[in-house]
Amino acid sequence: MTSPAPNFYFPAPRVQKFCSQCGALIIQRIPPDDNRVRDVCDNCGAVHYQNPRNVVGVLPVWQDKILLCRRAIEPRYDKWTLPAGFMELGETTAQGAMRETQEEAGAQIELGPLYTVIDVPHAEQVHFFYLAKVLSDELYPGPESLEAAFFDIEDIPWADLSFRTVVTTLEHYLADAKTGVFPVHHYDIPLPDAR
Ligand SMILES: [Zn+2]
Repeated sequence: MTSPAPNFYFPAPRVQKFCSQCGALIIQRIPPDDNRVRDVCDNCGAVHYQNPRNVVGVLPVWQDKILLCRRAIEPRYDKWTLPAGFMELGETTAQGAMRETQEEAGAQIELGPLYTVIDVPHAEQVHFFYLAKVLSDELYPGPESLEAAFFDIEDIPWADLSFRTVVTTLEHYLADAKTGVFPVHHYDIPLPDAR
């Protein structure tokens, strides 16, 4: 079962309208002793700090094939992605990556080492991808995926991948697979027109 598409971009805009402590209207200004514009409530004094979100995922491999999911949700509906999603409160990055793989692909995996750490400042996110070994070719994609499938390296649908963090993580994997050494890669994704 899928939910109707929301009429706003997900996740919802970061700027708050009302104070979550007292319900008064929020204004944006630089608080005393600060140097950034914040969401401030002049009624109760609360300052609502905003910080980057973590996206956690895996690069799952089954007998030299890579597991990808075709997105059933916006943004990038119908595009292929590595299993990944927003980290939840109270879980570790590894737990979040395992959970997303279960939710989106229904795949049984053995989590490997952390592989890419990617800063995406314009999206206010940091993405973490772990390597993972898929333990069975049985897949049970959940409602966030139209399908899940294994791809040979030469068949990766590069033109139909969802996000640049997915593209670059796969590019690193293909390059490292030639040497068999898979170090952690830490880099950032610049704005598209700054490339
Ligand atoms: Zn308030």
